[in-house]
Amino acid sequence: MNQDTLLSIEDKVISNALKIRFYPMAVASAHGTRLMDEAGVSYLDLSAGWAVAGIGYGHPRIAHQLKKQYETISFTSQLTIPEKNMVGLAQKLIEITPGSFEKKVWFGHSGSDANDCVYKLWPLVRNRSRLVSFMGSYHGQTMGSLSLSGHPAQAKFIGHGNVVKLPYPNPYRPPFGETQALTSQVISYIENELFRTICPPEDTAGLIVEGIQSDGGLIVPPDDFLPELQKLCQRYDISLIFDEVKVGMGRTGKWFSFDHYNLAPDAVVVGKSLGAGLPISAVIARKELLDAGFGVHMFTASGNPVCSIAALENIAILEEERLIENAAENGAYFLKLLEELKQRYEWIGDVRGRGLAIGVELVEDRSSKIPAAEKTAAVCYRAFELGMLVFYVGIHSNVIEITPPLTISKQEIDLAVSILDQALKDLENNNI
Ligand code: PLP
Repeated sequence: MNQDTLLSIEDKVISNALKIRFYPMAVASAHGTRLMDEAGVSYLDLSAGWAVAGIGYGHPRIAHQLKKQYETISFTSQLTIPEKNMVGLAQKLIEITPGSFEKKVWFGHSGSDANDCVYKLWPLVRNRSRLVSFMGSYHGQTMGSLSLSGHPAQAKFIGHGNVVKLPYPNPYRPPFGETQALTSQVISYIENELFRTICPPEDTAGLIVEGIQSDGGLIVPPDDFLPELQKLCQRYDISLIFDEVKVGMGRTGKWFSFDHYNLAPDAVVVGKSLGAGLPISAVIARKELLDAGFGVHMFTASGNPVCSIAALENIAILEEERLIENAAENGAYFLKLLEELKQRYEWIGDVRGRGLAIGVELVEDRSSKIPAAEKTAAVCYRAFELGMLVFYVGIHSNVIEITPPLTISKQEIDLAVSILDQALKDLENNNI
């Protein structure tokens, strides 16, 4: 494929909502943490395909299981015949999800359709009309999930009607202007403003939250926020739902981001890396809620045996290869090196993250904190030219998102930081 053909892909393929540039390459193969283009150029992937390749690309154990599975039972529809892999996967997901109450699992194909399950089911089964979510959140592209989202990419669509959006406690850009008491400001806003005006708690079915707001800018809330949110939901009998589609399945150094606070939400949504690249998502929730909503939201192929075996094997690999421990240890190492990089560039306004979910926010200068969106795109593009794939997120498009495969080594992290350093240096010297 020549350069012109590749560049014209941008005109032919519908451009995506986050305005991420198509890079002039076509991937020919992928193994571990690396992608290779048709010319044989290898790229270190700091995105893992938007956090899908948690165990890396092309794991031989997954390849083996897929072939075996397809030859044994290629398909059954869970609408009528449950198949043993799907049942085994449901059991495993229940086992790794905290909460001493009885749980059940719903299966879908994407983070979006799983969040649509939340959107459709909760008001129905709880017989309450409202849902609460957060500004800046990204829950997907389908009508229900985009209605739950508070990301600017979703603002132009109709929907949103019964979903009230709250400010997310962003320590770097505090929504109420002060960094002190961020948690109590948001909690008291919910109780004293929201619940007393447009969103009475007795008519609120559920509150959905990302433990780390990822597409919103890789924002880690203050440590006391999520525990206080759980207490608030318990006080008012509102279901607490965690969207773990991007940061779940071990990325933060524990199975789920809320495990860092020992929480037990009423429902957890997973997708992306669950299937190691195969399309499968799930909602793990209180049994009585999913039972009450039985048949409300179903797809012919969800939970199919091939995707289910991929997810089961993926979980076994995460456990046996100690990849969650690796995410914790190497994530801390990555963060430390990025903190050091921050000392050298005034444009790096903030570095934050947990495990291998890390954000680097670029600003015009530290005092004004004006988002440096163009510089962020330029740094990512320069990194691509230097052999590394890394993209940006955030409501201001100025946060470099680092979500590599959990297999990434310290040597690869050293390389990644040196490429980022070079890209920033080139920008500083007006070489890009
Ligand atoms: N939820 C979160 C937190 C996400 O980050 C995403 C995708 O980026 C989704 C849901 C939607 O997932 P999908 O693209 O698989 O529909």
